[in-house]
Amino acid sequence: MIAGGQSLVPALNLRLAAPSLLVDIGHLDELRGIAVEGETVRIGALTRHVDIERSEEIARRAPLLSAAIVHVAHPAIRNRGTFGGSIANADPASELPACALALGATIVARSAEGERRIHADEFFTGIYETALSATEIITSVEVPADGASHRFAFHELARRSGDYAVVGLAARAMVEDGVCRELRLAWFGVGDKPTLAPNAAEVLIGVAPDDAGVERAGHALSDDLDPQDDLQASRAMRFHLARVLLKRAARDFFPDTVGRTRKEASA
Ligand code: FAD
Repeated sequence: MIAGGQSLVPALNLRLAAPSLLVDIGHLDELRGIAVEGETVRIGALTRHVDIERSEEIARRAPLLSAAIVHVAHPAIRNRGTFGGSIANADPASELPACALALGATIVARSAEGERRIHADEFFTGIYETALSATEIITSVEVPADGASHRFAFHELARRSGDYAVVGLAARAMVEDGVCRELRLAWFGVGDKPTLAPNAAEVLIGVAPDDAGVERAGHALSDDLDPQDDLQASRAMRFHLARVLLKRAARDFFPDTVGRTRKEASA
């Protein structure tokens, strides 16, 4: 099937895909739109990247997506590419699958047999591979709406603005009284699929993290990530960059205790 065509058409051009039948779902208006329902933000599969970028509901209740979406390609591509298409395409260097994982999203899929709800933790299974069956279509993605205690961080390193990331991090935390209660660190560009880092998160949960704690969390990434060498970066460089991004995210979450300059600390 084809949605925005921004991944599939290049794949067809390069003869990486040659389907005998192509179904255009672009006119199914019921798969389009953003709605906040209670504590859930529901994003229709055909909602375009630009609609996420301009949405006030997303900025208010799922701001991680607002921060991430401007890193997805360029305006021309964001005008056509769809949220559901990006999740279904499951590019391991893509921003939105990692955001879905960080947010603990639910992917809603439908086939002639009925509806199935798949948690993001089980959805991404390998490089461009998902738990969707050949007869299923994503109809929407549901993400939990942020409350007053939620914080987000989004950082990526790419060679040029708009390129896929060499390493990226989408993260969501719940922070109460300076203590980290929940933390999901979802990495992209460091493996064959978006990957959570539970060992690194564990170091930071239940405490008010400081620089030493973030350093320890950075070491724990060795137990979470398994990056490979490729033309963009070596495994060692990816680990280094991941630790740099973790520090930046921790600074976003805990500005009073992490990464303070001498001047800030003595003020
Ligand atoms: P399509 O290309 O139409 O489809 C992609 C795949 O998903 C196909 O296999 C299709 O069958 C399947 N599919 C689509 N919709 C559904 C659905 N509802 N249910 C089930 N399967 C479905 N992406 C990034 O994340 N980061 C980038 O930096 C980035 N840079 C790009 C740069 C360039 C030059 C280009 C051309 C693309 C780039 N993209 C990037 C990809 C872009 O974000 C795509 O829009 C997105 O990955 C796919 O969305 P689409 O709607 O275009 O899907």
